[in-house]
Amino acid sequence: MSGSKAAVRVSINGIVQGVGFRPFVYQLARDHGLAGQVANTAMGVVIQLEGAPEAIDACLQDLPRRKPPLAHIVEIQREPATVHGFDDFRIVPSVGGQERFTLISPDVAVCDDCLSEMRDSNDRRHRYPFINCTNCGPRYTIITDVPYDRPKTAMRHFSLCEACRREYDDPSDRRFHAQPNACPVCGPSVWLCDRDGQEISAEDPIAAAAEALKQGQVLALKGLGGFHLAVDAQNEEAVRRLRRRKRREEKPFALMAADLSRAGQFVEVDAAAQSLLESIQRPIVLLPKREGHAIASGVAPGNAYFGVMLPYTPLHHLVLAEDFLALVMTSGNLSEEPICIANADALERLGQIADLFLMHNRDIYLRSDDSIVRQVAGEVRFLRRSRGYVPVPVFLRSNLPRVLAVGGELKNTICLTRERFAFLSQHIGDMENRQTEDFFQLTIDHLQRILDIRPEVVAYDLHPDYLSTRYAQTRDDLPVVGIQHHHAHIVSCLAEHQLEGRVIGLAMDGTGYGPDHTVWGGEVLIAEAGGYTRAAHLQPVAMPGSASAIREPWRMAVSFLEVSMGEGWREMPLPLMKGLSEPQIQISTQMIRQGLNSPLTSSLGRLFDAVAAILGLHLTVAFEGQAAMALEHLAADVDAPPYAFRWGAGDTRIIDTAAIIRAVCSDVSAGMPSPIIAARFHETLVQGLTDLCEELRRETGLDRVVLSGGVFQNRRLLAGLLARLGLAGFSVFAHRQVPTNDGGLALGQAVAAAAMMA
Ligand code: ZN
Ligand code: ZN
Ligand code: FE
Repeated sequence: MSGSKAAVRVSINGIVQGVGFRPFVYQLARDHGLAGQVANTAMGVVIQLEGAPEAIDACLQDLPRRKPPLAHIVEIQREPATVHGFDDFRIVPSVGGQERFTLISPDVAVCDDCLSEMRDSNDRRHRYPFINCTNCGPRYTIITDVPYDRPKTAMRHFSLCEACRREYDDPSDRRFHAQPNACPVCGPSVWLCDRDGQEISAEDPIAAAAEALKQGQVLALKGLGGFHLAVDAQNEEAVRRLRRRKRREEKPFALMAADLSRAGQFVEVDAAAQSLLESIQRPIVLLPKREGHAIASGVAPGNAYFGVMLPYTPLHHLVLAEDFLALVMTSGNLSEEPICIANADALERLGQIADLFLMHNRDIYLRSDDSIVRQVAGEVRFLRRSRGYVPVPVFLRSNLPRVLAVGGELKNTICLTRERFAFLSQHIGDMENRQTEDFFQLTIDHLQRILDIRPEVVAYDLHPDYLSTRYAQTRDDLPVVGIQHHHAHIVSCLAEHQLEGRVIGLAMDGTGYGPDHTVWGGEVLIAEAGGYTRAAHLQPVAMPGSASAIREPWRMAVSFLEVSMGEGWREMPLPLMKGLSEPQIQISTQMIRQGLNSPLTSSLGRLFDAVAAILGLHLTVAFEGQAAMALEHLAADVDAPPYAFRWGAGDTRIIDTAAIIRAVCSDVSAGMPSPIIAARFHETLVQGLTDLCEELRRETGLDRVVLSGGVFQNRRLLAGLLARLGLAGFSVFAHRQVPTNDGGLALGQAVAAAAMMA
């Protein structure tokens, strides 16, 4: 190199270790004719570049554009350095540091390079189900501790053969420092066994498993983050058998399609769906069913969507390649328990469900369920954020103290913060049984260890009976901060958008504990990270039977009808009446009047349930949200005018839901088709909440509206409010990085607790 020679030192923060970043920098520097070196540090990588100034600029411009698929750059810092006179570019040993904090990559789908090797009959990894490289494969689920090195992963039981070792040591190889690197000679293997764990001898266990699936058997299949239960998705009888054995009556099953073109045979796949399906995270994507599809009707009964994913492990590819349109791939668990990850545990807990087990001997240290996403209003929305995304942090506006937030009760996740990072855990589940509680505890311990976070404070939900709350209260080594449920929802959305200051928060939800000991869930808050006031809420009504009223929406219908028109409703020709007995009406109204086991709720979720039940859609449900989903489905895209949406005066406005119920009933009596009524109901909420926000803007000057809470899983309501509020001149924020349901709650708890302590 002649002429002027410059030198820079570049520090890069983010997910840059164990993802092929140093070999990438090595190649990039050489492409630009630069000398210098690259090394891992405790916080990321540091690069020394020397050469022509314009070549250095070009190299640094290329860097973020060409980064390896698993790398996630948070920050690039560049500073001038002195010229050392390097004569080439080198990868040098790690620069030691006191901090052992590095960001860990999530588990991602097998890459195309590996797939073509796997399909090549001349390759030494032909049909090898554990093929991977620096750009693909397991990470988060196989790590026990940091730094991320093979002895700290599930691969410690397998020592590299000579051929694999050469790849591992060669900076120019695709498998340089790929910790899970393996081959048929030295790596993990698969086998097939029966429910007693007896190995079934088969020349090709994968082909044998596929054959069993074709005959309608239920296969337990060990994946990346846990076991799946699989059946042939076109086999009606097999699907029924799986439902019966799994004790899962109506909840939709997820599907794994063999490839994109096959997926397109049973769901509508547009460009956005295609990029989600093919992304390295490989989530389950909710997509509209196609007319005349060939999938068994029992897969997603009464649902307009299928949850579809594409194969993400080499093993999936090998099984699906045996000529399936799609497989049902549902979590390997019993009803609401956590998904199985260990072989022995799977045999014990899934022994009554699966006929056969396709096992392997690469351990899963931390379970991680499939993530579930859908596209609404041009953005990806998470219903569950887990495998493929965790543990990528949410990047915060500013540094935070170290907080552990323990989440809610249902769809639990936990969150740990340090510096500008908030680490939301994978889906833990509904905290209603011992196994889930154990998994919750394990996740907290595991994440604290691998992220090297010792929390200074614990944030929890105010509900005194949540298991997560009880856990927080046992942490008497640390200060604890209770965060109101809907405040946490709004702050969760504030945090992911890096917003500061006060906003109008619409927390539309199913259930959350209010400080007045009633059940909140239709809340309009004036909120900021450190606090909130309740500006408006739905009129509280009784939930006769308490939790039973969630499982039996007819109870909420009776309650709303009683509040709205006394006994008058009993003479009306409501579809609800066809499914109700006189004693049911008697007992529930008595409970309401006497206040027996009938807590008050302002939940919008319960109002949805009531309207769905009045229209006769679901008098009882198999899972929370089922009735509301049916109402949304019924409304489809029907255009219809809103009902009146009124609220009272005062500091805390009470929204008059009784008027909405009366309007619904009057439409029913007038013989209005129910899709129109369902559409009018949705439209009422969209227009009414927009009007309310306008009044609050006049009063407070606030023009930012934040949407959060489980009810915003309703596509029409979310898209409608985003559009309508936008037209009214508001800046509107909804979730894009974490779920709007309780799966995103812990993020808000953590950020709110930090603000309240400050
Ligand atoms: Zn690969
Ligand atoms: Zn090997
Ligand atoms: Fe909630």
